[in-house]
Amino acid sequence: MSTEATPLVHIEGLYKQFGDNEVLRGIDLDIAEGEVVCLIGPSGSGKSTLLRCVNLLETPTEGTIAAAGHDMTGPDADLDAARRDIGMVFQHFNLFSHLSILDNIAIAQRRVLHRSRSEAEAEARRRLAEVGIEGKEQARPSQLSGGQQQRVAIARALAMGPKLMLFDEPTSALDPELVGEVLSVMKGLASEGMTMLVVTHEMAFAREVADRVLFLDGGVIVESGPPAAVLSNPKTERARSFLHRIL
Ligand code: ADP
Ligand code: MG
Repeated sequence: MSTEATPLVHIEGLYKQFGDNEVLRGIDLDIAEGEVVCLIGPSGSGKSTLLRCVNLLETPTEGTIAAAGHDMTGPDADLDAARRDIGMVFQHFNLFSHLSILDNIAIAQRRVLHRSRSEAEAEARRRLAEVGIEGKEQARPSQLSGGQQQRVAIARALAMGPKLMLFDEPTSALDPELVGEVLSVMKGLASEGMTMLVVTHEMAFAREVADRVLFLDGGVIVESGPPAAVLSNPKTERARSFLHRIL
C-alpha cells in the first residue's frame, strides 16, 4: 500500500461548542483504511461528541471532516450517502423494540438502499450468522440478552456495507459476562480489515486490537500512539492518573 494513500478519516481543526461549553478544542486526526483506533478518556472529555461529529450527528462549530470518501463539512455534503458508508453502534443498542430481529436489520436496507425484501432478508441472515446469532430472526429485541442485542446492532450496521464503523462504548451497558461475546465480534471485524473508531474502557481490547490509542481530555487529544506506549507508558500525568483510576 502506498504511504501516501488517502486516509479514510481526515479531521482538521475540529471545534465543537454547546453554548459556552467548548467540548472539542482543536482536533486533528487521520485514520488510515483498515486502521483500528481506540479512543479513551474521562467522562465528559468529548469522546461521544467527536464520534458524532464524524457522521454529523453533531454539527462542528469549526473545522473540516472527510470520512469514508465523503466531504462531511463541505457545502455539497450528501449526508445520506455518507451515513450509508459509516456504520455506528451505540451503548444502548438502539434497536426498534416493536420490530423482529430480522426486520430490524432489513428495514434500513429496504428504505435507504432500496433492496427488495428478499435481498434485505438474505443479507440480514448472512450478517446475523456473522455475529453468531441464529434462530432468533422472529424474536423481539427484548427477548434477547444485552450481548445478543448489541451483536444484532452490529449486524444491522454491517448490512449497509459500511467502509467505516464507529463504536461508542458498545459494551458499557452490558453485564460483565456478556462483554466478551461483543468484543470478539469486534475483534473479528478488525481482523477482516474494517476501519474502526472505538470509544471504549476495555483496555485489554484496546491493547490487543487497536493499532493506535488516543487519549482525549478536555476536548484535546493529549496522547496518541501504539497501545503499548499510551497504555503502559503514558507521557502525561493526566493520562497516567486516568489509567490508574480505571485499571
Ligand atoms: P464523553 O463521551 O467523553 O463522556 P461527551 O462528548 O458526551 O463526553 O460530552 C462532552 C461534553 O459535552 C459534556 O459536558 C456534555 O454535557 C456536553 N454535551 C454533549 N452533548 C451535548 C448536547 N447535545 N447538548 C449540550 N451539551 C452536550
Ligand atoms: Mg460518551
